Amino acid sequence: MAGKGRSARPEKTAAQLAAAASHLLDWYDRAGRQLPWRRHWPELAPPYLVFLSELMLQQTSVTAVIPYFQAFVRRWPTIEALADADQAEVLEAWAGLGYYARARNMHKAARLIVARHEGRFPEQPEQLCALPGIGPYTAGAIAAIAFDQPAPVIDGNIERVLARFYHLDTPLPALKKQLVTPYSRLLPDQRRSDFPQALMDLGALICTPARPDCAVCPLARDCSARQLADPSILPVKPAKKAKPTRQGRALVLLDGQGRAALIRRAGKGLLGGLPGFPSDGWDRSPPEPLDRILEGLEARILPAKVRHTFTHFHASMTLCLAEAGGADLPAGWFWAVPEETGLPSLMKKIWQASQTGQISD
Ligand code: SF4
Repeated sequence: MAGKGRSARPEKTAAQLAAAASHLLDWYDRAGRQLPWRRHWPELAPPYLVFLSELMLQQTSVTAVIPYFQAFVRRWPTIEALADADQAEVLEAWAGLGYYARARNMHKAARLIVARHEGRFPEQPEQLCALPGIGPYTAGAIAAIAFDQPAPVIDGNIERVLARFYHLDTPLPALKKQLVTPYSRLLPDQRRSDFPQALMDLGALICTPARPDCAVCPLARDCSARQLADPSILPVKPAKKAKPTRQGRALVLLDGQGRAALIRRAGKGLLGGLPGFPSDGWDRSPPEPLDRILEGLEARILPAKVRHTFTHFHASMTLCLAEAGGADLPAGWFWAVPEETGLPSLMKKIWQASQTGQISD
């Protein structure tokens, strides 16, 4: 069993580590995932593709990211093209991926790379970290994958593989800080761009959270967790905190011609800069004047609530449905066809529920 807060030292020899890295890369050549932003050694992936994919992959699964990545590259094939785009267009193309601050930062970073670096990505993690939305993980990933730098790249998959391979039992999140040295010791001198991607694939395909398949794992020979009855106890997870639920209201006001009253949300904060239904109570931003608009309208309240989960809370939304009947809209509201507006997921759920009466999670 993993002990409490005690971390086993990586005690593997240089020869063991070199053999493990070599087995891992052989396995990656045979069984690694084919992903549209990837290239294989000795070719390196263009930094723009690594930048796009890594920003999209923060908190979003590979399967969900692929179609967005392909659409972005088709529409904005270069960093210059992305920098030239309007922020609203970028946000609408991002709609559905969530965590919209990533899209705003991606766009700002693209503009800075064009303005300050003539469209060329900096190669060192420290320079990359100076760009908006690029933290130590993403900087390491771009430096390693696009420039073959020996920068540590430690995402959730890699963290799990390393914790098991070395039997590191410090609970998360403190464990994260202890992984740089174990990562660097395992990193080979060659193929430093393929190495993190191989570890990521191993974590995604074999050393999975609940069912590590040690029998077919290329690291099995020297993996310390393999000796455990259940390697999935590593990494040791922190106690889960319950998320609070915030109650809110949204108004779906129709004009009788297929359009609904929308707002563009304030640039900063939750779903910033995106279109949405006027709402209040759930997002800590100044409320829209729903009561004033609803006065004199015959509004219907949907019996079930629309729920959506954000990083730190659940939103539980009461839906008010009404026909405008020629009423003037408050400042900042506008008429638009919701299906053509690039609504974020919560707003899509609200629209769908208002049209069908069905609530989807
Ligand atoms: S041997 Fe098992 S626990 Fe160790 S890295 Fe491979 S799959 Fe994970």
